[in-house]
Amino acid sequence: MTVHFPFQNTYSALPANFFARVAPTPVAAPRLIKLNRTLAVHLGLDPDVLDSPEGAEILAGKRLPDGADPIAMAYAGHQFGQFVPQLGDGRAILLGEVIDKDGVRRDIQLKGSGPTPFSRRGDGRAALGPVLREYIVSEAMFALGIPTTRSLAAVTSGESVMRETMLPGAVLTRVAASHIRVGTFQFFAARGDTDGVRQLADHVIARHYPDVAKAERPYHALLEGVVARQADLLARWLLVGFIHGVMNTDNTSISGETIDYGPCAFMDEYNPAQVFSSIDEMGRYAYANQPRIALWNLTRLAECLLTLFSDEQDKAIEQAQFILGEFADKFTAAYQAGLRRKIGLFTSRDGDEALVQDLLDAMAKNQADFTLTFRRLSDAAGDADNDSVRAQFTDPTAFDEWAARWRERLADEPQSAAERQAAMRAVNPAFIPRNHRVEAVIAAAVNNDYAPFEELLTVLSKPFEDQPTFAAYTEPPLPEQRVLQTFC
Ligand code: AMP
Ligand code: MG
Ligand code: MG
Repeated sequence: MTVHFPFQNTYSALPANFFARVAPTPVAAPRLIKLNRTLAVHLGLDPDVLDSPEGAEILAGKRLPDGADPIAMAYAGHQFGQFVPQLGDGRAILLGEVIDKDGVRRDIQLKGSGPTPFSRRGDGRAALGPVLREYIVSEAMFALGIPTTRSLAAVTSGESVMRETMLPGAVLTRVAASHIRVGTFQFFAARGDTDGVRQLADHVIARHYPDVAKAERPYHALLEGVVARQADLLARWLLVGFIHGVMNTDNTSISGETIDYGPCAFMDEYNPAQVFSSIDEMGRYAYANQPRIALWNLTRLAECLLTLFSDEQDKAIEQAQFILGEFADKFTAAYQAGLRRKIGLFTSRDGDEALVQDLLDAMAKNQADFTLTFRRLSDAAGDADNDSVRAQFTDPTAFDEWAARWRERLADEPQSAAERQAAMRAVNPAFIPRNHRVEAVIAAAVNNDYAPFEELLTVLSKPFEDQPTFAAYTEPPLPEQRVLQTFC
């Protein structure tokens, strides 16, 4: 049986040095463990076909769908601040692009599908745990309304992969607006290939920033566009307590989606210095550092575009600095507006910023759970009872003084308590993919029990609903359940 995907590939039509043509390496015994049927339909793919033995073979890279033009994309990148001139897809293969039901072009990529010319010493494979973590967290981010790659499927390969120990192998099928990264621009810029930078920029404008094509200075407008989307994305991450963990320039998407979920995590108690990633020893990518790092990464992108800005380098640098200078304002505006919504304000006035900051400071001092504090604050906005919020603070009286100021401020707004509560509940999730839940799901899956994985996905698909049956999933870890480090 041949399986046809309605591919309309454009990246593989770019010059040959943009990628390496390479087919996935077949695996021993592919078994489908999860298919995202809703997403399949959205992509114009037949879920029943994907759910067949042939479908599992395609999703494991053992069989190519009709129309695929498999490639590994070339890119470079700064890893923890160190420039590496050649990285590239070392364990991922782009099957091709489809146009989804919204008319948006989407990459369909296999991750863990075997070695490529960019694998260096790696085996080209992925272990089951990280595949499940990426599946869970990316779909949770989608449900939270945050721009992200999606997960179409996960299969086990029937093979083992060697990490610290032998682990079951798996392949993730990932869907993205594109897999073009800051590091993709760096690949060409580092080689002095200005034509390559220009061709990539033109491809990105046509694909992700079509309005920019009409701008007087399209390449400047492109940088402005990427800066704006990253500023918005970083605000959204902070507002849900998300820590990416490996914000290298090769993991920074040009389209503004969250991409390359590795040792990522959501924080439980609020701590601006929180780090989970086992490889982030210096805390470079700690929670509160993330906006600063995004700007650092955007500065690397700007450097790549300088030759397109102006022949006069001084002028080009001045223009780039002006555009980069907009990041802080855009981020702060989005972050502060989001924080105001989280505490139930519909308007903005002097003193609001300090009001929210004082709450965050009290939360940090009192190990208050980030997600639960804001969710319970939403409940408290509906009546006069502070108890469930107070209970989040090691010293509950730390909340009382703040609560009095908060209620005074709320009294100045015309909205009803019910209206305010509904608005707060729509921005303060009850359910996030807590680390201890994700780790428990992975441990069960390694023992061939996928029921916890399925249940967690169900819960996380409706993060803003109470779901009383699953109330336990709102709870932070018990001391013995705490996860201190995440691995990729
Ligand atoms: P990451 O930290 O996962 O974003 O990957 C950084 C670089 O290492 C990319 O070029 C990846 O393709 C490559 N890489 C990571 N894991 C593997 C692997 N198991 N085999 C080959 N390449 C890998
Ligand atoms: Mg990566
Ligand atoms: Mg607590």
